[in-house]
Amino acid sequence: MTTHVTIIGAGLGGLTLARVLHVHGIPATVYEAESSPAARAQGGMLDIHDHNGRAALQAAGLIEEFRGLVLDGRQASRAIAPDGTVLLDEPDDGTGGRPEVMRGELRRMLLDSLPAGTVRWGHKVSGVRTLGDGRHEVTFADGTTVATGLLVGADGAWSRVRPLLSDATPEYAGLSFVETYLFDADTRHPAGAKTVGGGAMYALAPGKSILAHRESGGTLHTYVVLRRPLDWFAAIDLTDPTAAIARIAREFDGWAPELTTLITGADTAPVLRPVHTLPGGHRWDRVPGVTLLGDAAHLMPPSGEGANLAMYDGAELGAALAAHPGDAEDAFTEYERALFPRSAAEAAEAVRLHELMFGDGAPHGLIAMFTGEQ
Ligand SMILES: Cc1cc2nc3c(=O)[nH]c(=O)nc-3n(C[C@H](O)[C@H](O)[C@H](O)COP(=O)(O)OP(=O)(O)OC[C@H]3O[C@@H](n4cnc5c(N)ncnc54)[C@H](O)[C@@H]3O)c2cc1C
Repeated sequence: MTTHVTIIGAGLGGLTLARVLHVHGIPATVYEAESSPAARAQGGMLDIHDHNGRAALQAAGLIEEFRGLVLDGRQASRAIAPDGTVLLDEPDDGTGGRPEVMRGELRRMLLDSLPAGTVRWGHKVSGVRTLGDGRHEVTFADGTTVATGLLVGADGAWSRVRPLLSDATPEYAGLSFVETYLFDADTRHPAGAKTVGGGAMYALAPGKSILAHRESGGTLHTYVVLRRPLDWFAAIDLTDPTAAIARIAREFDGWAPELTTLITGADTAPVLRPVHTLPGGHRWDRVPGVTLLGDAAHLMPPSGEGANLAMYDGAELGAALAAHPGDAEDAFTEYERALFPRSAAEAAEAVRLHELMFGDGAPHGLIAMFTGEQ
């Protein structure tokens, strides 16, 4: 017997779960707050790792489609000192094993792989409550409700489903990313484009960094990372992009112009992304009829793993439900038994990586990691 699964959130995790369930003939509905697939830009490039992201796509039966999305040559890495000196330059020689794809294209691929109508757009969950007997009622912002016997919270950092399982809430990790884009950079910002090179560029110093990625079509995607309290960022008026960019760039006075141009040359208004995390080792006691995956379960500092892990969680949960037809509690128990230690280990590694990249030892920790000394 297969029971219908209700998934909250059409991010990469929720969609992978829906797809793996579909592969096994298990029906699911995904309720998503955004009004349509195009409602929001989906962010930058993701490198997909063999042991989690790629394994999930394999389970989803989408490896061929995925290969068609890979951007060649984007696995190159460079580390640049604030004065512009090249500290490390690793070209993409085709052996990296971490293929890069655009997040939006990956999401589109997953959406296209689902039966029409699986995702219900414009359904923002405002609350959930227990009905007893393992059933839950989900309430949407427009006041409508659905009742379900199998509920999965794949609704990211600020999950509305998580309170059914845990009191944990994300806390500010002490640093924020500020995101900008430069378009047609080889022509319009040649020095910046050359400095970024063919893939990822890291210019790190204690407490402040400029990271950039070459995306498709000559687009450079810049992340400025600053270790500052939230009220420091609140004092910057992001509704005045020119002044905001100038204020952020001031933190990099004295840095080489080919680096600061990645901030001052921005073609888009800066977007602030404060980094929040759940406590490392976040877990919960089994509650009948409901579980979590992805950021809702284990929000950690960005370490290049979050999307990979969310997809892997989705694939693992889908496989567990398929392996225990008619006994979702066994499936949830099996899934969570592996999820908790896996997430705890990944969260600890993400914290270590963040310290190497953005802590007081930057940039030497990262370089040691690249050269295999860490
Ligand atoms: C700056 C930055 C850079 C990153 N870079 C990388 C990287 O290079 N590689 C990598 O693997 N990871 C990266 N990550 C992490 C990655 O983005 C996340 O871990 C991943 O997106 C989690 O996927 P998810 O499906 O769990 O949640 P999400 O992607 O957050 O999806 C949740 C979905 O639920 C929806 N939703 C939320 N609330 C509700 C509601 N109330 N009702 C209905 N729907 C709702 C949202 O609209 C969204 O579509 C990065 C994160 C940040 C902040």
